[in-house]
Amino acid sequence: MRPDTLQCDIAVSGAGIVGLTAACLFARQGMTVCVLCDGPLPDWNPDTFHPRVSTLNMASIRIFEHLDAWRAIMDRRTSPFTRMEVWEHGTGAQITFDARDMGARQLGVIVENDAVIATLQDRLHENHNVTVLENAVLEHRFAENAGLILRTGCGKTIICQLLVGADGAHSATRVLCAIPGTYLDFEQHAIVTALETADHHAHTAWQAFLPSGPAALLPLADGRCSLVWSCDNAVHETLMILDDPDFCERISDIFATRLGRAVGCETRHAFPLRQHHADTYVARRTVLVGDAAHLIHPLAGLGANIGIQDAAALSQIVETARSRGRDFHSHSVLRRYERWRKGENALVLNTTRGFKTLYGSGAKTLIAARQGGLRIAENLPLLKRQLARYAMGIGGDLPDICKPATSAYHV
Ligand SMILES: Cc1cc2nc3c(=O)[nH]c(=O)nc-3n(C[C@H](O)[C@H](O)[C@H](O)COP(=O)(O)OP(=O)(O)OC[C@H]3O[C@@H](n4cnc5c(N)ncnc54)[C@H](O)[C@@H]3O)c2cc1C
Repeated sequence: MRPDTLQCDIAVSGAGIVGLTAACLFARQGMTVCVLCDGPLPDWNPDTFHPRVSTLNMASIRIFEHLDAWRAIMDRRTSPFTRMEVWEHGTGAQITFDARDMGARQLGVIVENDAVIATLQDRLHENHNVTVLENAVLEHRFAENAGLILRTGCGKTIICQLLVGADGAHSATRVLCAIPGTYLDFEQHAIVTALETADHHAHTAWQAFLPSGPAALLPLADGRCSLVWSCDNAVHETLMILDDPDFCERISDIFATRLGRAVGCETRHAFPLRQHHADTYVARRTVLVGDAAHLIHPLAGLGANIGIQDAAALSQIVETARSRGRDFHSHSVLRRYERWRKGENALVLNTTRGFKTLYGSGAKTLIAARQGGLRIAENLPLLKRQLARYAMGIGGDLPDICKPATSAYHV
C-alpha cells in the first residue's frame, strides 16, 4: 500500500465532541478507526478558560464513564449544578428543578468543550487501533462495492468500510452525499462569555426568557458563570458594541435580583443560531451523527448530548450486527440507527423550536399561554418530573450504556 494510503474499518470525519466519542466507542470494540481532523488538534491549557461550555446530562456522563474518560474530564474543571431556575423576565411566571426532587445528586454538569475533546484525544492516543490525521479535510468520497475510498485535502487516501460524518453543522459528509434537509434561520446570535456576579451562583443554572430570546447563566467551577444569551440579530449587534461596564449593566437588569450585579466579563463571542435536520442520516456505507445530522437552538442545552447519544446508539447497532456476523455497514443495519435516533432527535428539535417560538412571540394569546404553561408545569410534579427526566438524559429510548445500572452517578 502507498505510504499516503490508510486502511481501516471506520473513518470518522470530524474531531469534535461527537466524532471523538464515536471513535473511542468503535476503538473499544477492537475496530480500526481513522479520525479526520480538519485542523491541528487543539491543546488543553489548564490555565486558560475555554469560552465554549456545554451542560452534559447523565446519558453523556455514563457514556464517558464507559470510556474511562469521565474522571479525567472532571479533573479538568467541571461544575455540577443541583438546581435550575427558569422564569419569564418581567412576569412572576417561573419553574424550578431540584436534583433532590429527582433523587439525584445533580441535574447535570457544566464542562468546557475543550476539556472533553482533550480527554477523548488522550483516550484515542492510548489505542493502537486508531490513527488521527491532523489537517485532513475530507474532500472526496467514492463508494464502491468493496468499500469506500476517501480523499483528504492533504493528499491522504483512506480505504474504509464505513464513514461516520461527525463534521458539524456544515458537514462535508452531508454535502458529499447530497443529503437534503430542512433548514431554519432563527435570526438570532448567542453571545457567550464568562461573567462575574456579586453573589455566588449557588450551583444553580439560571435561565430568563426575554422578548428578544433566552439568557442563561451556567455555574462555573471558579464561582463565575458562563453566559449564553441568545438574542435577535438586531439586539445582538447593539450588545456586542457595548463596553464591558455597559454590557454588565444589561446583564444586571436581568439577573441582579437572583445573583446580584454583574461586576465583570471576559471577551464576548457570538454564534449565529440555526436549526437543521437532515432528511436521512444514511447514505451508502455512510452515516451522519451529531450536528452533521441535526442542529438545534442552545436554549435546552441538549445539542451535544443528543449527538453523543447518536454515537452511542450507532456503536451499539454496529456491535450487535458484528456479533451476529452481519455486515455492520449494510444499509439495513444503518437504517436501524436512523430509525432509532431520527425520531428521538425530531422530538428534541420540535420541542426546542416550540419553546423558542412561544417565548419569542409578542402575541397576547401566546404570552398568556406561556405564563400559564410555566405555572401549570411548576404545580404539576409529574409533568415537571417528565420534563426533567428528558433533559437529564434519564428518559427516552437510551442506548444501553446510558442506562442507570452502569453508573456510579445513578439517580
Ligand atoms: C452557544 C452554544 C451553547 C451550547 N450549549 C450546549 C449545552 O449546554 N449542551 C449541549 O449539549 N449542547 C450545547 N450546544 C450545542 C453543542 O455545542 C453542539 O451540538 C456540539 O458541539 C456538536 O458537536 P459535533 O461534534 O457534532 O460538531 P462540532 O463541534 O461542530 O465538530 C465538528 C468537527 O468537524 C470538523 N470538520 C468540519 N468539516 C470537516 C471536514 N471536511 N473534514 C474533517 N473535519 C471537519 C470541525 O472542524 C469540527 O472539529 C451549544 C451550542 C452553542 C452554539
